[in-house]
Amino acid sequence: MRNRISKRTKEKHQKAIRNVIKGLSRKVEVYKQPKKLICPNCGYDKFTDNSTGKCKYTPVQALLKQQEWEAAGNTTVKYKWFSRGRCPICHGRGYLEILRKTWIDALVIWDPSARGYGNSMTYTPAGSEGSTIVQLKTDPRHFDLLKNSTKLLVDGIECKISKPPLLRGLGIQAILILTAFTTDKPSIDSDEIIKDYT
Ligand SMILES: [Zn+2]
Repeated sequence: MRNRISKRTKEKHQKAIRNVIKGLSRKVEVYKQPKKLICPNCGYDKFTDNSTGKCKYTPVQALLKQQEWEAAGNTTVKYKWFSRGRCPICHGRGYLEILRKTWIDALVIWDPSARGYGNSMTYTPAGSEGSTIVQLKTDPRHFDLLKNSTKLLVDGIECKISKPPLLRGLGIQAILILTAFTTDKPSIDSDEIIKDYT
């Protein structure tokens, strides 16, 4: 009987936490692994892991291709003829990296140890001394996305995950807890910390 009550209390407590997450959460930008796309202008040479160094089109073809691309509503340059040397589209790499990002809802706690939260989970990773720790609480369905992310943008500040996300609780009551640290270098201007955009 005691066990049942404590279990129910625990579930109630976790449900309450989830409601708090829902109510107080903010949008966090999550960057996925960039997708590699073979350069549409020159192609990719897998033997040299480089651009083929030759445009796939004649000057007229490239112009027409670009016009077609723009007529479809695009504003980027995808096709541009070049005679030799570096392809102007992929800069000689042979592929383009497509940044992919998405948004999740998360409860954001900056500097959790200073505020008395989860001190056992926070630490400063080597080489990142001076950065600020941020803890995110979110829905467990974001586990794979967060685990494989390259960076996060929390309140407009760039962060990196310090270790794999941690699952707390069971089943639909579970909460995903993530610890990240800032990678932006703050520059000190008088007594204010200004984000470094350079
Ligand atoms: Zn190219």
